[in-house]
Amino acid sequence: MVLQCSKCGQPAIYLRRYTSEALCAACLIRTTEQRVRRTINKRKMLRDDDRIAVAVSGGKDSAVLLDVMVRIERDFPKAELIPFTIDEGIIGYRDLALKAAHRLANSLDLDLHVWTFRDLFGFTLDSIVQGRGQNDIGACSYCGVLRRRAINDAARELDADVVVTGHNLDDEAQTILMNMMRGDARRIARTNRLRELAVEGFVPRAKPLMEVSERDIVAYAHFAGLPYHDMPCPYAAEAYRNDIRDFLNRMEHKRPGTLLALLHSAETVAGALHSSLKGIQHSVCVRCGAPTTGQVCKTCQLVERIANR
Ligand code: SF4
Ligand SMILES: [Zn+2]
Ligand SMILES: [Zn+2]
Repeated sequence: MVLQCSKCGQPAIYLRRYTSEALCAACLIRTTEQRVRRTINKRKMLRDDDRIAVAVSGGKDSAVLLDVMVRIERDFPKAELIPFTIDEGIIGYRDLALKAAHRLANSLDLDLHVWTFRDLFGFTLDSIVQGRGQNDIGACSYCGVLRRRAINDAARELDADVVVTGHNLDDEAQTILMNMMRGDARRIARTNRLRELAVEGFVPRAKPLMEVSERDIVAYAHFAGLPYHDMPCPYAAEAYRNDIRDFLNRMEHKRPGTLLALLHSAETVAGALHSSLKGIQHSVCVRCGAPTTGQVCKTCQLVERIANR
């Protein structure tokens, strides 16, 4: 028996478990776009005349993000989309992903802007990793801090009002649970800061795919024929996240909707914590002038650490 699309009656090619919908390719794409629009509206992520910097990595999540944003932007003639990529300098990984990112941007008639760690900080991630000492922090700890700064620098140079990133529902649920289990619930409020709580010097961030599951994203990218690069980073070593991912996948399989429920619970908690964020005083880094809560920002601390070893 051929399953029919719950929306239009055509033969279905995909079962979206958390809504129990069988979908054809066109309805999969259309309903994903609708879901993203709802997420954006509900959280007031974007304004009609925003210059929107779209962080494109070359992977499937940001490929879907850019494709959906192009569809949505058609209704907002005053808005502008500017895709950009941060090239950390990881040979055999980011260089290949970057090619996919260029193909994607070209196929959507957009120019891709690229910033490199080497230009911004004077090091590639490969060289940072090679020079690491025995008890040094992991590659991802360097990468995460530097990329965060790189994204902000890029967004400011692009004169963007907001940066959108491709974090999906699975990523968000994993991060929430990891923060909870590490005893760092406050981080949940800090990482999904509402736009009206933006800090001077930081371009606000939004995650329009935060309610779209990874499974939906893989199906969307496939049926929309989006070019993307699908290989893990050679330095990826987040064992803890992998455990959490396995656990959450099992729970989601047993009880579809678990990930969304976790996201919504975390938002309730974050809402209560947001008032406490207003009390945090930001000063400027004495080295680089970026906003920070201490004297020297985390980026400058790391760059010094790399230069001095
Ligand atoms: S896995 Fe780690 S090193 Fe690789 S891109 Fe991600 S944060 Fe950077
Ligand atoms: Zn359909
Ligand atoms: Zn600094």
